[in-house]
Amino acid sequence: MTAKIIDGKDIAQQVREDLKKEVKALAARGVQPGLAVIVVGDNPASKVYVGQKAKACAEVGVHSEEHRFPEDVSEETVLQKIAQLNANPRIHGMIVQLPLPEHIRIATVLEAIAPTKDVDGFHMYNVGGLVIGDNKIFPPCTPYGVQFLLEYSDIPIEGRNVVVVGASNIVGKPMGLMLLHKEATVSICHVKTRDLGQFTILADILVVAAGKPGLIVPQMVKTGAVVIDVGINRLPNGKLVGDVDFEGVRQKASHITPVPGGVGPMTVTMLIYNTVEAAKRQTGTGDKSAPKLAG
Ligand code: NAP
Repeated sequence: MTAKIIDGKDIAQQVREDLKKEVKALAARGVQPGLAVIVVGDNPASKVYVGQKAKACAEVGVHSEEHRFPEDVSEETVLQKIAQLNANPRIHGMIVQLPLPEHIRIATVLEAIAPTKDVDGFHMYNVGGLVIGDNKIFPPCTPYGVQFLLEYSDIPIEGRNVVVVGASNIVGKPMGLMLLHKEATVSICHVKTRDLGQFTILADILVVAAGKPGLIVPQMVKTGAVVIDVGINRLPNGKLVGDVDFEGVRQKASHITPVPGGVGPMTVTMLIYNTVEAAKRQTGTGDKSAPKLAG
């Protein structure tokens, strides 16, 4: 068996085309969705991610603005900016690019964002809503993108065995919860899991988000499994790879995502998706074009 490639780049492009149409329809009603990105310091990876977000906003017609602060900015100054943006009707979604310098408390900053504008889905309100399955929250973008890839590829989730490798707050845990709400049977593995392969071999859908290149090899994967590789790792030779031995596992899986070009393009796209959704909710314009992904 050679797996079908789930082309995240292509699917993300199609979602962006749909979003463009939604943004146009909103413009006709006098609304332009707006996203604010707060960046502290000069982290090169953050620069790349922030650039990708701005480009995606421009492509879809979403207003975006960047608020940059030096590494030694006080927490108070960042909180003041968040308060201003919370009150700004032109801004419907706001994110704080992580990581933050050590003297700034991440939890304090994230809790300062109005939950209605928290399009990264990191505020405790949105995290709690995800736990109870409230469909008014903003799901975090990476696992939301994975869910979308599965649904778009017509992969059944209900009743399936899902194994998530990685238990971070931004990927692994919310991923497990989202697929649990889709009525899968979910196991979440982490660094202390004994004999990882004993779990992964049972997966109908295997989502890997550990940040460890080569972690998943063919003998850990059930024949016909769907394998979603969230990992992004830069090898010493400069090559970008996921956590899965792509060439080996694709001979066994039914579907697989590549790295790059799998989950990555969906993450930014779902940020724009959440921002458009936030704009619709805040302006009461969401009734005529309900989100396609909810539920
Ligand atoms: P993270 O915060 O470092 O979490 C990694 C998780 O994997 C932790 O729960 C860790 O377990 C677990 N883990 C590490 N080594 C393991 C092993 N050998 N066996 C089993 N579990 C193991 O990372 P993250 O932010 O979730 O990101 C994970 C990966 O996804 C990274 O490569 C990151 O670059 C990538 N990523 C990609 C996107 C995208 O858009 N494609 C977005 C976000 C992240 P413990 O909790 O026990 O330490």
